[in-house]
Amino acid sequence: MDTKELYREILNEHNLNPSHKKDLADANLSLNGVNPSCGDNITLNLKVVDDVIVDGSFTGSGCAVSQASCDMMLDLVIGKTKEEAKRLDQIFMGMIKGEATEQQIEELDEAASLCDIAHMPARVKCAVLGWRTMKEMFETGENCAVCSNPNCCGTK
Ligand SMILES: [Zn+2]
Repeated sequence: MDTKELYREILNEHNLNPSHKKDLADANLSLNGVNPSCGDNITLNLKVVDDVIVDGSFTGSGCAVSQASCDMMLDLVIGKTKEEAKRLDQIFMGMIKGEATEQQIEELDEAASLCDIAHMPARVKCAVLGWRTMKEMFETGENCAVCSNPNCCGTK
């Protein structure tokens, strides 16, 4: 099996049997992410305790690339600190732009299977949806205690 085939297999597997596509009742960070150009619409949920991502999930729908990418991202970041997750996000974004080194890409484990997306501009937004949503989530902070939406009324 050549690398391209292997990458396709990884992507298919995460799309068809995502490990993290489910509700997460005790999440303390949730954020909706949309990619209108493709119709991808996900909600990312994380449980962060003392800056460590102890659990995570996503719900919603979208194309294979968006779903698989989000699932692979969660595989990578669960168990890591927010800082480490942000660093991996930078590497992933670098890979998508074709700027990451081979060594950096290795750190992305299965998410490295999306490296060819760099040559498919139409799919880039699908591939980065989960990552972009996670980054935004860290920037906006914890869910509003009133309505669980980090972007609502500023009550935290
Ligand atoms: Zn998509």
